[in-house]
Amino acid sequence: MSEFEVSAFLQQLYDDCMDNASAPLDHLGEWTSYKRAQLQRMREYLCLPQLSERYETTPVYTPCNTHTEGDVEVTIYKIEALRALPFAVHVLQTAQPTHDRAVIILQGHDPRGARGAYEPAGEKTLGMELAKRGFTVFVPELIGLGEAKMHHEDGDIGPCESCGEIEPRLLNCGFHLLGIRVFEAMKTIDFALRQRGIRRIAAYGMSGGGHVCNYLGALDERIDQVIISGYVNLYRTSTHDRTHCICNYVPGQLHLGESYAVTSLMAPEKKLFLMSGLQDTTFPVEGSKEAFSYVEKVYRGLQATERFSSLLFEGGHEIKVDPVCDYLEGKS
Ligand SMILES: [Zn+2]
Repeated sequence: MSEFEVSAFLQQLYDDCMDNASAPLDHLGEWTSYKRAQLQRMREYLCLPQLSERYETTPVYTPCNTHTEGDVEVTIYKIEALRALPFAVHVLQTAQPTHDRAVIILQGHDPRGARGAYEPAGEKTLGMELAKRGFTVFVPELIGLGEAKMHHEDGDIGPCESCGEIEPRLLNCGFHLLGIRVFEAMKTIDFALRQRGIRRIAAYGMSGGGHVCNYLGALDERIDQVIISGYVNLYRTSTHDRTHCICNYVPGQLHLGESYAVTSLMAPEKKLFLMSGLQDTTFPVEGSKEAFSYVEKVYRGLQATERFSSLLFEGGHEIKVDPVCDYLEGKS
């Protein structure tokens, strides 16, 4: 090992971030003002004010195409809400949805993009199962994923290669993928509420989509239930322990504290369900256990224990369909 290797310096930076961040459990007695200040800092780290001021436009919603799969109708809308960045939202529902709650699904690095929420046909997928059970489902195709990539003459590239291509260009301009993804998710909720008559909305995020959902769930007051799978962990045991896709790294993110400090800001109002696979090697279970335990203490400290639940399931870094559907139906 060279005496000039840099690991000790990186560890020092991480430790400094943790030492200087204010931990949620230290602020339960002044939660409202603490939370307000943390959310304001979060908006700034995500560049949401700049995105809104410089690039937000009056939204235009255009249905592009519709097909049916069994009893479920799938309509793809083009949403124009950020100048020069139209994005697709795939909407799934039966002719007669039985729930007034909609679910926004935030996909991770699924090579199929938003379609991965309901394809291949015939397999049990989360989006399709929720639609069959009577929910209206919104799946935005977030920047860098699915079709929302830079143009390539040779065809498609993988999701992480796409993140690796777009992220450096955004960083040079003072933006990043996570902030734009959170903004797109918020614009999807605008669409759901204004155009589709939705009254209540839950958010589900998996893996990289869980990263988006962690922030979206904390920031967006219109969401009343949040489910995150395969993401909530510690930076120390996941993205700082091994190298993940570049979109996991956000300038200044650790100034807010460990990952669970963001998750904790959903307390006490929002119902929160955290999931992770016992054999997940991407976000290892020991880190998930520590993070889940911390967030649970925050909920308990705010007398909202009944709004928090978690599940460690047999499996790896994967979507478990039935526990999510059962939870949203109030069966678990
Ligand atoms: Zn990525």
